[in-house]
Amino acid sequence: MIIKPDGVQKKLIGEVLRRVESAGLQIKSLRLLQLDRATASRFYSVHKERPFFNSLVEYMTSGPVVVVALEAPNGVTKLRTLIGATDPDKADEGTIRRLYAESIEQNVVHGSDSPENGAIETSFFFNTNEMSLSNSLQE
Ligand code: GDP
Repeated sequence: MIIKPDGVQKKLIGEVLRRVESAGLQIKSLRLLQLDRATASRFYSVHKERPFFNSLVEYMTSGPVVVVALEAPNGVTKLRTLIGATDPDKADEGTIRRLYAESIEQNVVHGSDSPENGAIETSFFFNTNEMSLSNSLQE
């Protein structure tokens, strides 16, 4: 998951993480950082032909983000349910995007859309050691 620049700017880090933890997702690691253009472009390379790509990269590099590595059974479904549809106007009531997002672009959070992409995306930001710290925590 990424708490995007608008989410950080709106002081939603705590609120988003609280919802994520309450939904049973385990935080494996997290960090506040500034994305550079190269990383943001690589992260969203699947969208590079889309008309909104430049604007998306501009937005994602406009301020600090929080990158979070999460783990849970059915974690992708759990997180995507919590986040809601890309467009906040189409997101279900009570979802993070419905409650807090400004627009289809500035939508507060990113969530991986499959376990495979989740593994690829977490490897952008974390190594295995960083993600094993929570292994010693009791269930
Ligand atoms: P997600 O998986 O719900 O985040 O949606 P996508 O993978 O389709 O898009 C990635 C991100 O690109 C979204 O979260 C938005 O920030 C942005 N985005 C998606 N569709 C649009 C669009 O139609 N216009 C604009 N300006 N941004 C978009």
